[in-house]
Amino acid sequence: MRHLLSTEGLDLATATSLLDTADTLKQTLLGREVRKLPTLRGRTVVTLFYENSTRTRVSFEVAGKWMSADVINVSASSSSVGKGESLRDTALTLAAAGADCVIIRHPASGAAHRLAGWLDEAGTHVVNAGDGMHEHPTQALLDAATLRERLGELAGRRIAIVGDLLHSRVARSNVHLLRTLGAEVVLVAPPTLVPTGAQHWGVEVRHELDPELPKLDAVMMLRVQAERMHGAFFPSAREYSVAYGLNQARLDKLPEHAVVLHPGPMLRGMEIAPAVADSPRAAITQQVRNGVHVRMAVLYHLLAGEEIAA
Ligand code: ASP
Repeated sequence: MRHLLSTEGLDLATATSLLDTADTLKQTLLGREVRKLPTLRGRTVVTLFYENSTRTRVSFEVAGKWMSADVINVSASSSSVGKGESLRDTALTLAAAGADCVIIRHPASGAAHRLAGWLDEAGTHVVNAGDGMHEHPTQALLDAATLRERLGELAGRRIAIVGDLLHSRVARSNVHLLRTLGAEVVLVAPPTLVPTGAQHWGVEVRHELDPELPKLDAVMMLRVQAERMHGAFFPSAREYSVAYGLNQARLDKLPEHAVVLHPGPMLRGMEIAPAVADSPRAAITQQVRNGVHVRMAVLYHLLAGEEIAA
């Protein structure tokens, strides 16, 4: 694997191997007082974020540091991007300064692919940490890692992705990966928030949540991405919440074993009720924890490629 840009096209063997490596790393570090492996000593990892982030940026930084890489964080607001420098010039500057891997978040769909094209020659690896409404592959991998821990193998499991599908890179990456892992995916959203052509993604599309709940092994709630909305996609937050919010009554309709996921940040009271978010059925902090191990696995596959040195 040269770059990780999307889960579309990520084959079953590579996806499984990334998830298995994440699990091995998690077991290796479990209960250790000093969480530090020497695997990426001497390698330089740069996070380049043009959009806000808490979980993704921090967990990539922790992942790199736990593997002894030198991690440098660049944010658009505090770099020469603020002076008008182009993405290409910024990327070439980072490569020239010695970056072995650039982890990019950008509001434009396709930005990570462009970056990979420019950095190929320099031998710098690129990881997509979210490009516009397109993909967020490490989020889908950490979701799959969490679902595997809670449910075992995902083949034949039925998973609903609910909410603002139209603007969600998390939904797109999850559809591809979950299908590759053999799960059945059902998308639930108001018609205005279903992307054109979703019917051809090999998933079921539904507009009502309640009838789906008793059949699910997991439900993934999505944030309403107000920052990407130019127009009214539903009448009001209250009506959205009544129709699509995961409240206690809906939680009770899920089978006992079913897992609740949310990529964060959560809008408590809108797509998810506080009591549901904090219930033991929700795996939201487990997702964040697994995010570190999955991102370690990605860096390991890109930058090391030898045995995991304990
Ligand atoms: N954190 C996720 C993303 O960056 C989900 C979200 O922002 O709603 O796509």
